Order: sequence, then structure tokens, then C-alpha cells
Amino acid sequence: MKTIDDIRAIVYDPAEERAPLVARFLALPGKRHLACTDRESVTRALDGLRAEGLDSKEALVLQRFMGRFFQKCPGSPRVICCNYHLINTCFNCLYDCAYCYLNTYLNSFGVVQFTNILDVADEIEAHVAARPAGAVLRIGTGEFTDSLMMDEVTGIAASLIARMSRFPNVFLELKTKSDNVGHLLALPEKGNAVLAWTLNTERNIALYENGTAALDRRIGAARAACAAGYRIAFHFDPMIAGEGWEAEYRAVAARALAAVDPARVAWVSLGGFRYASGFREIIRARFPDEALTRAEMFPGIDGKYRYLRPRRLAMYRAMRECINELAPDAFVYLCMEGADMWEDFAGARYASSDDLEEDIARHLRRTVLR
Ligand code: SF4
Repeated sequence: MKTIDDIRAIVYDPAEERAPLVARFLALPGKRHLACTDRESVTRALDGLRAEGLDSKEALVLQRFMGRFFQKCPGSPRVICCNYHLINTCFNCLYDCAYCYLNTYLNSFGVVQFTNILDVADEIEAHVAARPAGAVLRIGTGEFTDSLMMDEVTGIAASLIARMSRFPNVFLELKTKSDNVGHLLALPEKGNAVLAWTLNTERNIALYENGTAALDRRIGAARAACAAGYRIAFHFDPMIAGEGWEAEYRAVAARALAAVDPARVAWVSLGGFRYASGFREIIRARFPDEALTRAEMFPGIDGKYRYLRPRRLAMYRAMRECINELAPDAFVYLCMEGADMWEDFAGARYASSDDLEEDIARHLRRTVLR
């Protein structure tokens, strides 16, 4: 598994060198430091590292982020979303998944860690205060990065878990493909923090999830997190249809759910592999041997290419059956599917994403907040 040890150079603003997050990175041994005072010098430094042959994921850029840290997941047009809220902590990832949306950012270089990220807690608290009392809010990190890949240095998870533990209706989810949870196990106040693992079959991890933790290590970390008192979630996304998919995915779900207390599994999501128009060429250029985009796929209501509907429904039903049997209190939901799929999958009639959000909230009130 790739870790912070794989970062070779750190670009930073000397005006921030005493900020705790920056100071912790600069104290790591064996890394080159490049002090840059403005955007032009950052660009020059990164161009130099690229010219020397560093990989984009070997350079860390520590810089302030001036955009919005916290917002509702934009979802996809005309599909049912769960109205999850996202925290934007970092841009880029140590890992290199073939199907990752980050592959579309061909010109960006370096892993960009936002140094003012902990300001987000104030934004979230203001948002919680503006919502009706008791409203359930699910928020998470990890849209353009892996939530925990270098969290032992950033300290983001520990800080946010402590701040959010004051709000019993806030579920803070930290989603990862790492096993990097050792630094979080002894935190005294966990609130309703959910440590979550994106899982796939061993075959697909080996083929498409370069640099991530092996399945055994992810499941071992989930076991430790559950024993330490965290709520747990699993995400089977993207599910990849290949020979033997059903037996392999069922076996992964069974292994994961056997490792934790099923009563502490808050939710499980399912999503078939999908990609936007134009992405196929990008994947094929970077990973010429991939078989992901060789499958028969068609554009859906949001323009994204997906497996044919009967195949997706079969995948989702097989997983739901397995999960319901082993963890009956876990809410199983689909990521980026239309209302018709929801009706066939669970008999649910969702007119909008608000209906799914309310269904999840109702479920969490019944199973967790009772
Ligand atoms: S772990 Fe997530 S963010 Fe990182 S490369 Fe894989 S899909 Fe992309």
C-alpha cells in the first residue's frame, strides 16, 4: 500500500511553515522541501519536479484552498442521490485506480493538501445550526482523494470526529481503501463517526486499484475500528461485471460482515461501474490492458455509460440478499441509479433524491438514534 513515505518532495508556503498541519509534514524525514511564495513559483517548482521524472503522486503541495470546503454532493442529473454532503479536504490521491475520475485531470501535477481544511468544521456547524432541530445529516470526505491515506499526518479525521461528536444527528463518514486507522482507535469521543471501506474483489483490486491496501488489510482495519467503537460502512462501488462476479462479490461481503459486529454497520452502498462520455479513451490511454471498458455498456438517463439494466439489477439484488441476511440493520442503497431501478431493486417509489435521503434518515433514527 502506498503511504506518505512515497511522497518525495513537499512544496509549501514559508508563511505557513509553523501552522501545525504544515509543520508535521515538514518534520517528516527524507523529503525535499521547496518553499514557494506565490502561484508562479509553485508552478515552476512542479514543472521542475516533473522534468526530473517525479510522478505526480510523489509530489505534495501544501496550500490554502479559497473555494467551498463543504457542499451537497452534486450527484448526476435525473438519478436518485442520497443528498450526502461532501467535505473537500485534498485534491488527488496517493493511489491510482484505473476507474478513478481523477484520471480526467491529465494536466494536474501533485497531491494538493489544503492547509486551512480544519476551518470546515465552522462551516459545518453553521449548516447544522440552520437545519431543523434533530435533522439527520450525513457528511463525508473523500470525493477527490482517499480520506485516510495520510491522515496520521494531517490529523483531519481526529479533529472532525471530535468536533462532530457534539452533534448526535450528524454522521461523519471517512471513506478509504487504506488500513490507516491505528491513530484513530483510541479517540475518546467518536460520536456517530462512521469509518467506511470501499471494497472490491481481490481480482479487481489487483487489476484496477493500484497502490491501495489489500482486501484482507481493509477488512482487518474495519474489524479493529468496529472493536474500538466506531460505526462501520462498506461501499461496493464500482462493482465490475466479469466472469464469476456473483460468487466473488458475495464472498467479499460475507468476509467483511463476518469481521465486524453487523449491528454496527450503518449502511452499505452499491454502484455498478460507470463512466462519462470521453472517459473510455482516457482509461485506455493510461491503462492499455484494462478490460473495464471492453464490456457492453450503454448511456443512461444522465449520459453515463453503464452495464445493461438487467445485469445491474442482478448485481444489486445478489448483494442485497447477502447483506440483508448477514447485517439486517444496515441500510443498503444504490449510488446514481434512477427511480425505476430503485422500484425494481427495493420496491421503493422515490420521486426525488429527498425521498431517499428521508428514507435513510428514518432508518438511522430507528436503528442508531433510538
Ligand atoms: S482511492 Fe479513490 S480517489 Fe484514490 S485513486 Fe482510487 S478512486 Fe481515486
